[in-house]
Amino acid sequence: MLSANLMAPGSYRKVYCRCGRKNCWCYSGKGHPYSRITFSEDGKSRTKSISEKNTGWIKKVTQNYRDFKEGQKKIKEYDMCLIKLLDKYLKEIIEQTRKKKEYN
Ligand SMILES: [Zn+2]
Repeated sequence: MLSANLMAPGSYRKVYCRCGRKNCWCYSGKGHPYSRITFSEDGKSRTKSISEKNTGWIKKVTQNYRDFKEGQKKIKEYDMCLIKLLDKYLKEIIEQTRKKKEYN
């Protein structure tokens, strides 16, 4: 699939908005549906509207982004764990080395 590796930050939402015209069907309903994504960029919250034909696509690429971030988080956690293990290993080796010749 073409969009398999494309990514976009944001959460997709369908929202409803009344246009305000009294003779419109939406006046007594919940409003016109429209799709949008919200995301933060440079510390600001941003919203982009998504056309109906692109909703499937945007759901896919924002999911790709979330999956990627999730993977990144896991790698970071794994790295932290590995660094701790290496520290522990190093300390043990230092101890063993000291014991060998009692140079301290
Ligand atoms: Zn309306």
